[in-house]
Amino acid sequence: MTKTFEIAVFEGDGIGPEITDPTAKILDRLARNSNSYSLIFTDAPAGAAHYAKTGESLPDASMDIARRADAILLSAMGLPDVRYKDGTEISPQIDLRKALTLFAGVRPVTVRAGQRTPLHMPDGKEIDFVLIRESTEGLFHTQGRGEVSQDEARETLLITRDISEKLFKFAFDLAKNRKQAGRGPGRVTCVDKANVFRAFAFFREIFDAEAAKHPDVTADHAYVDATALWMVQKPWDFDVMVTENMFGDILSDLGAGLMGGLGLAPSADIGLENAVFQPCHGSAPDIAGQGSANPFAMILSGAMMLDWLGLRHEVHAMQQDGARLRAAVDRVVADGAVLTRDLGGSASTTEAADAVARELGQR
Ligand code: NAD
Repeated sequence: MTKTFEIAVFEGDGIGPEITDPTAKILDRLARNSNSYSLIFTDAPAGAAHYAKTGESLPDASMDIARRADAILLSAMGLPDVRYKDGTEISPQIDLRKALTLFAGVRPVTVRAGQRTPLHMPDGKEIDFVLIRESTEGLFHTQGRGEVSQDEARETLLITRDISEKLFKFAFDLAKNRKQAGRGPGRVTCVDKANVFRAFAFFREIFDAEAAKHPDVTADHAYVDATALWMVQKPWDFDVMVTENMFGDILSDLGAGLMGGLGLAPSADIGLENAVFQPCHGSAPDIAGQGSANPFAMILSGAMMLDWLGLRHEVHAMQQDGARLRAAVDRVVADGAVLTRDLGGSASTTEAADAVARELGQR
């Protein structure tokens, strides 16, 4: 029986539409070649350009599409020149995280043999870990509401038991699924600053309580400063890491750096009911309209979407297609003949996406 999934598509700003179009085409062709699932794509207008035109950054109609969809595929939103009256940027991707309680920001970091990385990789080593960034509270709790006076400024960090329990359960389940798929030893590392802050001792206590429910997964802890060091010195040792919002914000860019830049860094923001899949990078206004943007992070985010939908709805063929799509991008990157400028090549967005499609036998 074929299962049909509705995908809300936020093509966003800047290079957004340029990388969304080829990604949706690849996903559509994968689905058309499958007897197990089909995909319906529904456009959801939002973002900085939409705000400049209409005065609305995330219209109710688009929010409704996002709520009812089975998954949300989002490119990037925001333009530095388009701002609200208070001077902050338009960022509906953050509004979606809050409105849909997408607490688990999933940032996979992989460096396969042959892939460019600023690290010196010992022979036979590959990097394959996932950083989970809590995405609804932490130091982002007072985002936009911080108190600033002439002489001082305050933001408040919030860590709740409810969200932390959900977050840690998600992390342990992910480590288990990865182990079953032959990726990683089944280990979760809680990254915190429990040596200094009571809030992080609280965070760690909840982590330990969840760990006790998963005796088949190894649980350990690391301080965030040491983690930054080890991510550079021995990143191949990590499996699943879970951390607070601001720590995760910073460490995930370090992870993208290990992969040679943002152009290969996919992400997902996952809650109990909804999930957004989007590249880690922004709308890259400096190269928008040139047809030179790297589509790989967006395509890899599409692969994560297939993984998540397949696991959630027990459609094994979707998980297989997710893995095939990732492997196809890995082969194009390792081959090195068709890379965009950010990865040292001269290919256009279309040529790079076509190379992935060819690897999948789509043309
Ligand atoms: P950015 O990620 O857009 O760009 C940083 C640099 O990386 C630029 O030189 C850009 O050309 C390059 N780059 C990014 N993606 C690329 C790709 N796919 N291919 C090739 N090169 C790529 O970050 P920024 O310049 O700080 O932000 C630009 C806008 O994007 C801002 O308005 C910002 O608020 C927004 N933003 C949105 C998101 C999101 O939607 N999740 C994330 C970050 C920034």
